[in-house]
Amino acid sequence: MALIVQKYGGTSVGNAERIENVARKVKATAEAGNQVVVVVSAMSGETNRLIDLAHQITKSPDLREYDVLVSTGEQVTIALLSMALNKLGCPARSYTGTQVHILTDSAYTKARILDIDEQAVRSDLEKGRVVVVAGFQGKDENGNITTLGRGGSDTTAVAMAAALKADECQIYTDVDGVYTTDPRVVPTARRLERITFEEMLEMASLGSKVLQIRSVEFAGKYNVPLRVLSSFEEGPGTLITYEEEKMEQPVISGIAFNRDEAKLTILGVPDQPGVAYKILGPIGDANIEVDMIIQNVAADATTDFTFTVNRGDFDKARAILQKVANELGAREVSGDHSIVKISLVGVGMRSHAGVASTMFGALAKENINIRMISTSEIKISVVVDEKYLELGVRALHTAFNLDQAPAA
Ligand code: ADP
Ligand code: ASP
Ligand code: MG
Repeated sequence: MALIVQKYGGTSVGNAERIENVARKVKATAEAGNQVVVVVSAMSGETNRLIDLAHQITKSPDLREYDVLVSTGEQVTIALLSMALNKLGCPARSYTGTQVHILTDSAYTKARILDIDEQAVRSDLEKGRVVVVAGFQGKDENGNITTLGRGGSDTTAVAMAAALKADECQIYTDVDGVYTTDPRVVPTARRLERITFEEMLEMASLGSKVLQIRSVEFAGKYNVPLRVLSSFEEGPGTLITYEEEKMEQPVISGIAFNRDEAKLTILGVPDQPGVAYKILGPIGDANIEVDMIIQNVAADATTDFTFTVNRGDFDKARAILQKVANELGAREVSGDHSIVKISLVGVGMRSHAGVASTMFGALAKENINIRMISTSEIKISVVVDEKYLELGVRALHTAFNLDQAPAA
């Protein structure tokens, strides 16, 4: 008998009819002789609605209360799904994150899972019940409700699968697998049969929201077989795997992009030891994550220093930078919050030269100006103006031969 963890995302449980559809799929899995744990997200749009409500009360809500609020969306779906399963004659019980003892740290809105006490779940499974668990939430050591960051139900599912040593963790969503890039932006994108953990980690961290990055980290660390599938149609989906394919590897496996970017430049800072630290220290102290960093070669005794942050942190970072600029006697601070990052990802890059030049050539042909560049072993990222996102991604998708063959 296999133990399967299935996760259904917001669109998949978006209304009563869809919840009943999920119940039928879960029942079929159980009746095929499997033990099943189901993790569900809030109904689509619900988490956004809750966040919006909070912001109607205050611009900066107390984060403890924020988590109490936004975790409620998932409580609705676990109850409804369990009702639907029971109605179909498939015994099921729902549990919130607190009830299944998903222990996290206390970092409200972005808590990390530390431990799961899987005993209660096991005893239900042994009694032949389907266990339905609320995604996206846990509790800290003092019993405060925490949430795991947007898209966090993926991580709940993988963590449950790791704790229970499940045979497979299946992430059911509104696309039928992981694609070469977001199929909503590039209609000719192709579903991948498999993708390595390493590549999936890069894709997730560079903006492909099909899986939350922490879920991929968890799956890699605990060796959880992970598959992305559609809730709405049958198919093999995409397997996330350790094996780098023996067959010929494409140089690029996928293209990720992130609209949530902004950049800041401090111009005319004295070119001295310790300057980077003086600039980025206060930014880090304010808990603002910095991504790409560029320091220009000093022309005179001064230099320019540019870095990117999440768009949501732009105003805060700019205010801090202005203060630093005054202290350092820098000339000026400038910023741009209408930029995006486009990244090519592929383990095949390790053994192939010329990826960067093909990339830059394809963008040049479309007259797209590159504002920043960063590379690592299996990815190349560029920052471009927001208005070029779709054009840039499509051009690169074609330039690297990722497009689907046209239907015969
Ligand atoms: P869920 O609510 O099921 O968690 P998400 O909206 O979080 O679903 O993730 C699925 C979405 O991820 C898809 O609808 C698709 O637009 C987007 N996406 C981005 N990049 C990719 C990719 N490379 N492959 C598949 N989907 C992607
Ligand atoms: N409901 C949460 C969100 O919208 C968690 C999830 O869907 O994974 O981010
Ligand atoms: Mg998601």
